[in-house]
Amino acid sequence: MSKPRVAIFDFACCEGCQLQIVNLEEEILELIGAVDVVEWREAMSEQSREYDIAIVEGSITRPEDEERLWVIRSRVKMLIAIGACATIGGINKLKNNFDLPDVKKYVYGKNANMPHLDTTMTRAIDEVVKVDYKIHGCPIDRKEFTYVIRCLLMGKTPEIPEWPVCVECKAKGNPCLWEYGQVCLGPIIRAGCGARCPSSGFRCFGCRGYIDNPNVDAAKDVIGKYGLNVETLKSKMVLFGSRQGPTNE
Ligand code: SF4
Ligand code: SF4
Ligand code: SF4
Repeated sequence: MSKPRVAIFDFACCEGCQLQIVNLEEEILELIGAVDVVEWREAMSEQSREYDIAIVEGSITRPEDEERLWVIRSRVKMLIAIGACATIGGINKLKNNFDLPDVKKYVYGKNANMPHLDTTMTRAIDEVVKVDYKIHGCPIDRKEFTYVIRCLLMGKTPEIPEWPVCVECKAKGNPCLWEYGQVCLGPIIRAGCGARCPSSGFRCFGCRGYIDNPNVDAAKDVIGKYGLNVETLKSKMVLFGSRQGPTNE
């Protein structure tokens, strides 16, 4: 049986998630042995127009990004978005909180209207094309990446947590940071990181995105105990949950 051909692409991002893949060390050799990597700008110079699986990092912030992404999607059977930039728009979506002309002027000054500096509101990958699987986090977790890829290669559906960070945090026996005055987003954010931040004394700031179906009543009870509501909690998610609506393009 021929090995699936895999290509890895990046859009607007810091490339930290690709670095997580590179840093898999000996595990990467095992994974690479199971597939044919035909394009990966960060790690090789070859390019290809033929691949079965695209792994995509980064968010869409320019008109040409969108066109390139459509081409990638048209060539593959499976598209996997990796990292917060790709899965939810990530930190790049902070731009969407402001009017685009102001953002351009602030960043590019008198050159703001030069055609090669054209920019659009930031979108996650699934706001442009269909995404088959998402690997969340900023950056992605190496173990989770390996797990998802292994499952897919074996024809299994990977289990992506559909419960909040609080579940993992409580399982670790951590004291709740709300007791110490930190507005932790754990009740509404997707688990899977092992409650990494609260376990180190920092509030969860939402890098894995909202869970699809939060238990709003339970979250309300917990949050209400501290005199807040779910909307207030969401308003604290500026870093990774900035608004999706159109800016003045
Ligand atoms: S999700 Fe975070 S680590 Fe990954 S590319 Fe975006 S900014 Fe970098
Ligand atoms: S709110 Fe934060 S600190 Fe409290 S239990 Fe949930 S994840 Fe842990
Ligand atoms: S605790 Fe929250 S911010 Fe920290 S890694 Fe997990 S999801 Fe991301």
